[in-house]
This record gives sequence, C-alpha cells and structure tokens, in this order.
Amino acid sequence: NRRIVLAERPQGLPNDSTLRLETSDIPTAGDGEMLLRTKFLSLDPYMRGRMNDAKSYATPVEIGGVMTGQVVAEVVTSNLEGFTEGDLVLAGSGWQDYAVSDGTKIINLGKDPANPSWALGILGMPGYTAYAGLLRIGDPKPGETVVVAAASGPVGATVGQIAKIKGCRIVGIAGGAEKCAHVVDNLGFDACIDHKADDFAEQLAAACPDGIDVYFENVGGKVLYGVLPLLNPFARMPVCGVVSWYNMPNLPEGPDMGPVIMGTLLRQKVKVEGFIIFDSFPASVYDDFRRDMTEWLKDGKVQYKEQIVDGFENAPAALNDVLLGRSFGKVVVKVD
Ligand code: NDP
Repeated sequence: NRRIVLAERPQGLPNDSTLRLETSDIPTAGDGEMLLRTKFLSLDPYMRGRMNDAKSYATPVEIGGVMTGQVVAEVVTSNLEGFTEGDLVLAGSGWQDYAVSDGTKIINLGKDPANPSWALGILGMPGYTAYAGLLRIGDPKPGETVVVAAASGPVGATVGQIAKIKGCRIVGIAGGAEKCAHVVDNLGFDACIDHKADDFAEQLAAACPDGIDVYFENVGGKVLYGVLPLLNPFARMPVCGVVSWYNMPNLPEGPDMGPVIMGTLLRQKVKVEGFIIFDSFPASVYDDFRRDMTEWLKDGKVQYKEQIVDGFENAPAALNDVLLGRSFGKVVVKVD
C-alpha cells in the first residue's frame, strides 16, 4: 500500500523534502466497513493550503499524515449495505492506494459510470465551485461582461462557459498563447488575454470596452490589479481563490495596495463575497448544479479538458505544475 505523506511544511513552493512516499500493509475492512482501492486522485490548488500550519477553513495535514485529496476508488471488499465489490465511489481518502471507509461522505458512482474521473472535475467539486460561485454570488445578467482568470483550468473554464450560456460577454485570462487559443476556439470565450504579456492591463482594458460587471476571482496578484480600474458600478466579485499568492512565504514588497483596493470597492459599490464550496451554499444548489451540468454536457454546451498524469509517484511534481500554471486542464492522477 503506497501512501504519500507530508514530511515537512514547505516555505514557498513545495520541494523534494515536502512530501514522502511510504509503503504500509494493506488494511482490512471490519464490520460495517469497506476497503477502497484508488483509481484516480484529484490534484487541486487548495492542497497547498493544507500543508501550512495556519488557521483556515479546514485543519492542516499533520506532519507524517497522508495528504488530503478526493479520489475515485473501487470497492475491493464491502461489509457495508449499499456498496458491493466493483462499485466505483467518490471518496476523500487522500493520496494512498488503499483506504478503509465506513461509508461516511462517500458517493456511490455505480459499477460502470461514463467518465468516472469527471466526478473529480466538471461533475464534481471544481464544476460545482464554478456554478455556485458564479450564479449565486456573481449573479450575471445577459449582456454583462464577466472576467475570469485560470480560464483553461477546471473552475475558470466552467465559469466562462456558464456565463456564456447566461448571455454574457466573457473575457478569460490565461498563461500563454496555447491556453488562450483553447479558451477562445474550444470553450467559446469572446476573448482571452495572456497575463504574462507586458501590456496585460492595456490588453484587458481593450477586451472590456464596457467595463467589467462580474470578476470571478481565482488568482489575485497582477490580474486583480489589472481588473480593479475596469470594474463598473455595482460590479460583483465572488472570491474563489488567490492562487498566485499560495506559495508566498512572506508579504510581497512594494506599495501598499490597500487604498487602491478598498477605494475602488467603495467608489464602485462593488459586492465582494468570499466562499468555500463545502459549506457556503444550501444543498439544493448542488442538486441544481448536477441537473444543469449533466444537461449542458449532453447538449455539448460545456466542453471539458482533462490532463491525466500516469503514475502515483508523479503526483507531487504534478501538484507543483498545477500551482505554477504548467498544467493544462483538470489534472487527475491515474493510480495503477
Ligand atoms: P487550475 O487547474 O486552473 O490551476 C490554477 C491555475 O492558476 C494555473 O493553472 C494557472 O493558470 C493559474 N495561475 C497560477 N499562478 C498564477 C499567477 N501568478 N497569475 C495568474 N494565474 C496564475 O485550478 P482550479 O480551476 O482547480 O482552481 C482555480 C481557483 O479556484 C484556485 O484559486 C482554487 O484555489 C480555487 N478554488 C476555490 C474553491 C472554493 O471553495 N473557494 C474550490 C475550488 C477551487 P494559467 O497558466 O492560465 O495562468
């Protein structure tokens, strides 16, 4: 049984000393339990936060503890009603081959679901994050301009495509020409700006001639500062993530941006609302999401790009790729 544990808390980007691969005996399922074998492990930016010993919405991973993560796993043996051998399940059993579960918070996907790994992406947490954050907080109206960064990733790509369905003009921001071309050509955004361009702010302004009504905040940093001067009165800003700052060991040097940020929010009467997808919305929103997203996928109104990483031992490097923008699409590790 292979498992990847947190060896030490990183300062900045995780390195070779941060995570450690260990082996242990395969556990056995007792009464009222089942044994799960991981098939797909999801890699997500929030995992960087779990490595810190800081107050957050979730407890940090302990030193020596198995890294947190959502997986699609196969039921190997079951002493639990409602789960039989061969069922695929969505579980939170983390970065390990095998885990024992009593069924708490486990979703049974059945014996042969189409695209099982999608339960970690477009039909799971990232897709729901995009749906609930955009529709419940962003409240986009037809004709409005919506801006989202990390636009080729699972959350951003979904935000843009839903905003398009709702009749908005949608401007994406992504790192590099290849991602930007994908965002416009395959996902149907009206424009996509490369945040690495020297004249990023000017390009963003040109792509938003009527200003910005909804800024779905995924990244913070330079992108946020480019967006602020373009916000329209009564703009909405769902604050979903600030990934450009996740590896920051200390506060950045430079001018204090507090006055610019707060002054803009005040003058433009911007509604800013942070959310954590696990507990910010009533359960009915999740049901709405499942119904709408299943239909949009069936009708081809939403496209989904996945990057499958082969091999469990490659997960640590692949997580850094997600954090640094070297991944392309929703990253899922195929565990053999
Ligand atoms: P992605 O797979 O899109 O990965 C993050 C992306 O962020 C990178 O690929 C990169 O894309 C972009 N990025 C990284 N650094 C920078 C930077 N300095 N400037 C601009 N862009 C950068 O992630 P997800 O779709 O899974 O998540 C998107 C955001 O949503 C994250 O902030 C995440 O933490 C947050 N989130 C929040 C949830 C909540 O409950 N609040 C739930 C789920 C996700 P590129 O190369 O295009 O720049």
